[in-house]
Amino acid sequence: MSIRLIDYLDYCFTKNYVLKKQWWLEVYTQPKSDGVYVRVSGDIPMVEYNNEWVSIDGIKTLPILNDYLQLKIKKGHRVTINEDMTTTVGRYILNYLFIEWLTGDSKYINKMTNFKDIATDIFKRLSPNAKNPLSYDIIDKLGKLVYLLRPLSGFKTVSLTEKTFFKPDGLDEFRKRTYEKYVKNYGKDFTKDKTIFLMYEQELMKWIKDYYKDDPTFDITMAGKVLNSSVKKRYVSYGILNKMSPDEPDRVLITPLSEGYPKDKEMIAGVNNATRQGSAGRGIETQTTGVVAKELIKATHGFKIKLHDCGTKEGFNFRIEEPFVKVLTDLYLIEGKNTQVKYDEEWFRKRIGQTVIVRLPTTCKERPGDVLCKYCVGDTISTIEGAIGLMAINAGGDGVNNSLSKFHDTILELKNYTTDVMFRDY
Ligand SMILES: [Zn+2]
Repeated sequence: MSIRLIDYLDYCFTKNYVLKKQWWLEVYTQPKSDGVYVRVSGDIPMVEYNNEWVSIDGIKTLPILNDYLQLKIKKGHRVTINEDMTTTVGRYILNYLFIEWLTGDSKYINKMTNFKDIATDIFKRLSPNAKNPLSYDIIDKLGKLVYLLRPLSGFKTVSLTEKTFFKPDGLDEFRKRTYEKYVKNYGKDFTKDKTIFLMYEQELMKWIKDYYKDDPTFDITMAGKVLNSSVKKRYVSYGILNKMSPDEPDRVLITPLSEGYPKDKEMIAGVNNATRQGSAGRGIETQTTGVVAKELIKATHGFKIKLHDCGTKEGFNFRIEEPFVKVLTDLYLIEGKNTQVKYDEEWFRKRIGQTVIVRLPTTCKERPGDVLCKYCVGDTISTIEGAIGLMAINAGGDGVNNSLSKFHDTILELKNYTTDVMFRDY
């Protein structure tokens, strides 16, 4: 007897097998002997299903599962699926664990999401003031998941395969043929025309992408800069050399690094300069944000929040604007002698453009300096242990990432680091 992969996964969900480390170990590795969930004697691996041993359609080797196996799912198959879709085993299991089992929530149905969003959501909904608070047994569940996933992350990561470690078979021959074709069509000096040279590089890169496309690392670790810059420089051509001054002529190095450094002295200087320029550029680009990130973390790592009131009478004049309405409901206002005033969204929304006095960490009277009171940081942050340090790390990391992304020709909008972004961003 054999069953469909999706039926086996569903069976493992209902039996809670997916919450057992042994299950993960047996289905995701190549065990040498029979286990509780997988039997390995014989040619075709068998799995336990309703007290019988059965094979799974299409699976003839170990391991039984890998994250990239495709699954076709029909609308309504599970509560979180409301249209026919193709997905992968990895997504199907994570979807079950993080959404159905953990939060019991259908809010992420057919939406792109990520762990950060879900984690943010969980933190937010643990606050006693949340509109739809999660029950506290989620903490047990989270603990179980972390315990389960931590040892797994080691062997589930595929970062390098034999195929991607060595030079692609047949590439040199294809490169030679392509080079000859370009010489024939555009002349021996075709590298002097940047457009034609880029066409040449693209043709070779297309071949390489085709060669790697079935590799499990393709589009995962073999993607982006690794593929389009490192692999290209190593096997296709070093490319257009950076200039150290505007007066220098344009130079193209058509040989890849796998053929060693060029013999030509000017070319060697060009390659060397490109490397120096890259490393200096990276240093300059991340200098400011790097310092800011370190200072933020240093300044905030020990912050503690006390649940009593520091008794400050000072606040911060704050103009109510639409984007701050949500965050304002989290904070405490000062109105005359009353320093613990709170309002709901509607109250603030009716007063957009007006000014209120809010309590913020900068006006907290709590001393020594590494303690803040609950009423000066607001409700959400005061319920999350270590929230201030986490915000600092997050803000610092995003700062560095944004400068690096800019450096790599992608322009990202700078984020506004408010609690609104950190804890309410959905
Ligand atoms: Zn205070």
